[in-house]
Amino acid sequence: MVRIAVIDRDLCKPKECSLECIRFCPLVRTGTKAIEFDEASGRPVIREQLCLGCGICIKKCPFKAISIVNLPEELERYCVHRYGPNGFKLFRLPTPKEGKVLGIIGLNGVGKTTSLMILSGKLQPNLGRLEEPPTWEEIIRFFRGSALQNYFDALSKGKLRAVLKPQHVNLLPKLIKGTVGKVLEVADERGLVDYVRDLLGLEALWDRSLSNLSGGELQRLAIAITFCKDAHVYMFDEPSSFLDVYQRLKVARIIRDLAKEGKTVIVVEHDLAMLDYVSDMVCVIYGEPGVYGIVSLPRGVGPGINEYLDGYLPGENMRIRSYSISFNLRPLERMWSPDEVLLTWSSMSKRLGGFQLIVESGTVHKGEVIGVLGPNGIGKTTFMRLLIGELEPDEGTPPVTRLLSLSYKPQYISSDVEGTVRQFLEERGSPDALSSWFRSEVLRPLRVDKLLDRRVSELSGGELQATYIAACLAKTADVYLIDEPMAYLDVEQRLEVSRIIRRLTQEREVAAFVVEHDILAHDFVADSIMIFEGTPGFKGHALPPMRLKDGMNVFLKNMGITFRRDKRSGRPRVNKEDSYLDRYQKSIGEYYFIE
Ligand code: ADP
Ligand code: ADP
Ligand code: SF4
Ligand code: SF4
Repeated sequence: MVRIAVIDRDLCKPKECSLECIRFCPLVRTGTKAIEFDEASGRPVIREQLCLGCGICIKKCPFKAISIVNLPEELERYCVHRYGPNGFKLFRLPTPKEGKVLGIIGLNGVGKTTSLMILSGKLQPNLGRLEEPPTWEEIIRFFRGSALQNYFDALSKGKLRAVLKPQHVNLLPKLIKGTVGKVLEVADERGLVDYVRDLLGLEALWDRSLSNLSGGELQRLAIAITFCKDAHVYMFDEPSSFLDVYQRLKVARIIRDLAKEGKTVIVVEHDLAMLDYVSDMVCVIYGEPGVYGIVSLPRGVGPGINEYLDGYLPGENMRIRSYSISFNLRPLERMWSPDEVLLTWSSMSKRLGGFQLIVESGTVHKGEVIGVLGPNGIGKTTFMRLLIGELEPDEGTPPVTRLLSLSYKPQYISSDVEGTVRQFLEERGSPDALSSWFRSEVLRPLRVDKLLDRRVSELSGGELQATYIAACLAKTADVYLIDEPMAYLDVEQRLEVSRIIRRLTQEREVAAFVVEHDILAHDFVADSIMIFEGTPGFKGHALPPMRLKDGMNVFLKNMGITFRRDKRSGRPRVNKEDSYLDRYQKSIGEYYFIE
């Protein structure tokens, strides 16, 4: 076995802890410097060859900054990169293929972005050799016998150009200045600017400055810029965030077009329907978030995603999760009795500036989770404000006689917040957020309990999302509106969020509306589906909540796409357009799945 000790850069605060980790180490007490303060980095360093792995420092650290794991010795020769002494360690790399889309799937913090940084040439791998970093020749020799040998040979000689759509599109306005049109015209190396403008609906934004774009608009622009570059390898880090289903499909088509042209394409994605639709093969990255990651061999997309959901990778004989993720466990239908009605509303309409919303009458029940599907700007928030009595309808009767309370998780979550996660939960949520019940039911499963002393401004996208969801659920309310909770979360967290929303909604006998563009997440979370149709920013039409299957059917019919069920996992899978099943399901009107 070989020992890996990792000290989290963000969590370790030597000025606030009186160095308990060093003081209590039994080896240090007997004169062996297994852990020692390093003046240069201002943090302790654990010497892995000396450390006994007794775990005392882990327990003593007040900020839970230390992790120590033992891994099989033979893995060591596959170490591709380490971020400094006691930093995160990555083993192996995904192997992309010309003319194919390689999908990458895995927990947050296991090295997906690091892999893309290395494959794009932005980060030169150190093979774990921190004292004496390897030369390119040594790196190429390291990959001898695999397709990555030629890849890095060409990359190091400047003969292979790779472009990367970064994960955090919100940073784009800080890096590039100008209007959408100007930025795209400068980026366009392949003469495709008109094509992407039309396909991704960028025309209306053409003269807008980047600093005035929403998350979804920045995402489409970032994808368009990447697509217009002339390169051999194209990488997309989480391209679906902030896009609605319709836009996700268009982006999937653009990505597939690149592979058809013979380009090498890599996509990191947590929306399983999108990943499934876009990829030819998938690599799983597994390990312990923030500590180490191991890249699996590529597999065909269908079996690859199923193995990931199963939690067992037969190719490596590796169990990566103690449980399997199944799509059929939840009872699909819940029957409601009349005394379970929480509120009903009659038909109403409301005009706000140039926008009009028409609402059909509907009912929600105590304990019901309503999945909401529809594009952005179609009136979902306006509907919610009518529902709780915050807005008066122009026509129709207001739905309630008393004002209902609403707890809201906004779509765009800002990290521009003073203070720690603990303060945020208490102030934006409620003081109950730190009760032992809420901690064990919500904070621990969402991995927010570990973040309590971190500054909100320093959180990653996934950590920030989980924190906002926890704050929303900590509030006592009659109706919860949770807008795009899954953005930036990995598959496990999406499942956990779904479970928590369902459980709390049932226990509190309230209703939760979950707006989400990840179709598969609705399969986990929703009892019923509410669809908003129309033209964003102009006219919206809210249909009543329907049974999950019926709602999905209506929605997918509008979109012109069909889903089948994977025989093994029960997972909904997008049918290829015009395939036999696609045509068959359309002919019988079963757009969601065949029983
Ligand atoms: P993923 O994309 O799977 O979420 P990343 O590749 O972004 O994971 O990060 C893997 C781990 O590496 C994280 O724990 C992160 O904190 C750490 N890490 C990322 N970049 C650096 C860096 N420049 N220096 C030190 N650690 C880093
Ligand atoms: P969604 O929640 O589906 O994104 P909203 O209900 O927030 O949509 O908004 C629907 C449309 O109504 C948008 O075009 C928005 O700009 C417009 N709108 C919302 N509130 C107002 C207002 N107070 N005045 C004028 N227009 C508004
Ligand atoms: Fe303090 Fe923990 Fe950092 Fe050690 S690892 S210096 S105990 S914060
Ligand atoms: Fe010392 Fe034990 Fe921590 Fe190793 S695990 S550094 S031996 S306290």
